[in-house]
Amino acid sequence: MQITDLKCAILGGSPVVRITTDAGIEGYGQAEHFKPYLKPHVLFYRDFILGQDPTDVERVMLRIRRLGSFKPWGSAVSAIEMALWDIAGKAANLPVYKLLGGKVRDKVLVYNGALRFPLAGQEPGHYAENMARMAEARENFAIIKQGIGFHSSMPDELDGFSYGERLGVSHQTERGLLTERGFNHVVACIEAMKEVLGDRVGLALDCGPGWTVPDTIRLAKAVEGMHIMWLEDTITGDYTPYVLAELYRELTRSTSTPIHTGEQIYLRQHFKPLFEMQAVNIVGPDPADIGGIAELKWVAEYADLHGILMAPHGTGDGLIGLAALVQVAATLPRNYIAFEYPVARPDWWYDIVDGLPDPIVENSYITVWDRPGLGVTFNKTAASKHLAPEDKDFFN
Ligand SMILES: [Mg+2]
Repeated sequence: MQITDLKCAILGGSPVVRITTDAGIEGYGQAEHFKPYLKPHVLFYRDFILGQDPTDVERVMLRIRRLGSFKPWGSAVSAIEMALWDIAGKAANLPVYKLLGGKVRDKVLVYNGALRFPLAGQEPGHYAENMARMAEARENFAIIKQGIGFHSSMPDELDGFSYGERLGVSHQTERGLLTERGFNHVVACIEAMKEVLGDRVGLALDCGPGWTVPDTIRLAKAVEGMHIMWLEDTITGDYTPYVLAELYRELTRSTSTPIHTGEQIYLRQHFKPLFEMQAVNIVGPDPADIGGIAELKWVAEYADLHGILMAPHGTGDGLIGLAALVQVAATLPRNYIAFEYPVARPDWWYDIVDGLPDPIVENSYITVWDRPGLGVTFNKTAASKHLAPEDKDFFN
């Protein structure tokens, strides 16, 4: 089998990859809906993979993997990798999880990091009220993640939240030492959310990046009695193009609160110091950023050798990304906690794909499906209506 074309269309902001073959089998991949600008980057790889056998996934990936990088520049490579597995599965008439070694669980736990309601304000009561709404969601999530600190509007709306100048570009660029008042505000909001959830639903906190080491240690210690699931991306993370494992090690050694990072990291090589230095307790790679499904599986196995847990990221990965997350999560070792459940954006995405269960999530679990490949395919008639004029030939 040979690859005959690599195409990319932007569907509701999401770069969608389509790989076609001379056997008439096609495969799809998807990158986060936050990254519509990736289309030329996806197409850059076209000439590198044309004529290759897509069922030799790793052999194809050797041709493009070193031309990617940290988030967002690993996304195009990752989405192509997903599409290759989709083809390989369809060619073998097997779900992708079988090609990764088989499933070790029939249903995969997911957590809520994408199903949101607007916060009415930045006071503890607003966080409590918002958390109560999320806890009532029909998915009955076992774990809910909320943004706080630099990963929230607290720095904008609270006077004197931190020292130093704010750039006001995006939350990923903020950084600084918190004032005592700002710090106490963060802790008060966490306490208010815990009050709502009790020990019934786990609370995870997406914190930054941008925290200083001393503030992060102070925060981790302040919440030690609250059984927080994890503190995510405090020092570095999200779009930070480096890891600073030695700073994370200082933090992780100082506290019993689990420390988490990794959504922005591309390839196993950048997880190596985190694992070998025991610098964190949990990592959250995203299959649409790390370099793909198999890369995530490999990293999870290596994490497990070091006693490090897995909570993969996925908030913007969309429905093809969801399929990739389900396939790989079914195969991860038992250091797996849950992945971040992506909701479709915009809503019409639910009408343009076939193959998802209804409801998708029951009691915080998704039952792993058995259809060949990723098991989620486009309804081309419905999807075509949403193609931009320049993408009109995407399904042809
Ligand atoms: Mg995050």
